[in-house]
Amino acid sequence: MQKKPHIAIVPSPGMGHLIPMVEFAKRLKNYHNISATFIISNDGPLSTSQNAFLDSLPNGLNYLILPPINFDDLPQDTQAETLISLMVTRSLHSLREALRPLVVETNMVALFVDLFGTDAFDVAIEFGVPPYVFFPSNAMSLSFTFYLPKLDQMVSCEYRDLPEPVQIPGCIPVHGQDLVDPVQDRKNDAYKWMLHNVKRYMMAEGIVVNTFKELESDALKVLLEDGAGKPRVYPVGPLIQTGSSSDVDGLECLRWLDGQPCGSVLYISFGSGGTLSTNQLNELAMGLELSEQKFLWVVRSPNDQPNATYFDSHGHKDPLGFLPKGFLERTQGNGLVVPSWAPQAQILSHSSTGGFLTHCGWNSILETLVHGVPVITWPLYAEQKMNALYLTKGLKVALRPTIGENGIVGHAEIARVVRGLFEGEEVQSIRSRIRDLKNEAANVLREDGCSTKTLEQLASKLKYKI
Ligand code: UDP
Repeated sequence: MQKKPHIAIVPSPGMGHLIPMVEFAKRLKNYHNISATFIISNDGPLSTSQNAFLDSLPNGLNYLILPPINFDDLPQDTQAETLISLMVTRSLHSLREALRPLVVETNMVALFVDLFGTDAFDVAIEFGVPPYVFFPSNAMSLSFTFYLPKLDQMVSCEYRDLPEPVQIPGCIPVHGQDLVDPVQDRKNDAYKWMLHNVKRYMMAEGIVVNTFKELESDALKVLLEDGAGKPRVYPVGPLIQTGSSSDVDGLECLRWLDGQPCGSVLYISFGSGGTLSTNQLNELAMGLELSEQKFLWVVRSPNDQPNATYFDSHGHKDPLGFLPKGFLERTQGNGLVVPSWAPQAQILSHSSTGGFLTHCGWNSILETLVHGVPVITWPLYAEQKMNALYLTKGLKVALRPTIGENGIVGHAEIARVVRGLFEGEEVQSIRSRIRDLKNEAANVLREDGCSTKTLEQLASKLKYKI
């Protein structure tokens, strides 16, 4: 009897990629009976949130952890994209050893990597397993990714010095300084890694992207056009975190939300890795206090590097000690502060949550849209500036605070925007647009919805190699 189809998934480090990849695997398992093994590369012990998340994988989804690789030879300031790429490249030997028995024991129909993992394609090809990319961001970033080799040839200066915005096919114009982090310094290794991976996308059998037609119709139209030898793109989103938290701290903040009026609380979080400088943390605290708005804030220890905790979202110091003196006492009753990590999906789906100040990671954006919560954008790293631009200028579902000349968003500006999100006139149209998107997001995942159909086509391709 033919064995059931199985896939291997190699996520990059950090929760932001693992979460949507697990949701993708769950849908393949539940609707198409394709099981999966996650193969986790690392440079040391996994974070608490990663461990808890992997341990709660449902039946049919397994994981195995590769031996840690060593980064001691790399300079301190090595960028995240270089680390993520090297994590895969330096794990190829152990990946091969992990894949070998899986290929024998299962009917392995695909190996999925995420955006910087294409070196693993070589191992897949050695075993005759079709390689795929799971792109955990949006169509806009994917479109930019495809456009990059051309831009690289056309432009000789740094992109941030271009006088005109870059016109990515199917997308709103983006100024060079708002493009993704790894292209901000073309001499940096991160840029070379990005180009290296992009060129290898052409080897993929298909690219899965976590978005849907109604959310990014123009960008997807271009991406879905056949031709130019590009792999087929499968928009299967929104894939967002499901399931509940068993974490005690998390339950406490949900109980607190239970006691707040409907739509009254601003949720503030900078994703799995975002950090603010000491100055900025202070201004944010003072701005929240000044706004007199109810808030639930996931606080991290300050750091001048905006993605300081990307590889370990819990950090090591007690973040609450960095808040302004007396802040916790003065805001008691009006606000709740949670150190490092909170059950975001449940917070956003809670009826007391009425706004989200977010770093604009793509998962956070999808989660807020699915639950219809209006946004304040606060982009920090990766492709977040592009995402923030799309939310404010493209979809028009968000407010954006103005950054002061010192590079900091001041407390008065923060208070103004926070009040605006709950009381301003502009927010009425934001609420109505976000309600439409919420409905569209639900529709595309129904039985006859676009994303469900697209996943079905992908599943057939995986199973029958058509
Ligand atoms: N997340 C969470 N609790 C937190 C911070 C983040 O559950 O305190 C989850 C969030 O719901 C999202 C993911 O972690 O699913 C973060 O992904 P995103 O793309 O927004 O940002 P990244 O962490 O990749 O920068």
